[in-house]
Amino acid sequence: MQPRKILVVDDSKLMHKMYEVMLRQYPLVYALDGRQALERLQEHADIDLVLLDINMPNMNGLEFLAQVRGDGVHGDLAVIIISTEGREEDTQRGLEAGASAYIKKPFHSEDILEKISQLEKGPGA
Ligand SMILES: [Mg+2]
Repeated sequence: MQPRKILVVDDSKLMHKMYEVMLRQYPLVYALDGRQALERLQEHADIDLVLLDINMPNMNGLEFLAQVRGDGVHGDLAVIIISTEGREEDTQRGLEAGASAYIKKPFHSEDILEKISQLEKGPGA
């Protein structure tokens, strides 16, 4: 899966800037919370990967994930949770909620690029 468009969901605009630099080769769209993220999915049918923060106002990452996984439309959407919530139980909750992968903040750009390339190769790679 070569992502056609990546949705970055994080309440920190500084993080948006970081992703912009790290992921120069990919088209990106941005949301500041889960609600905005749902809107972006409506607006951009070609989003096939979401980089998802957990702690956000209005609608957090796990709530967003529950919506997306429950709507019957976005079953194929790859979601990588990227969060400071690095405890084992949070990782587990995220993966149970339907995340494809989990990265802890702080992270290096290679961590994200590697996860994306694993998704590109498909399951089992
Ligand atoms: Mg946050």
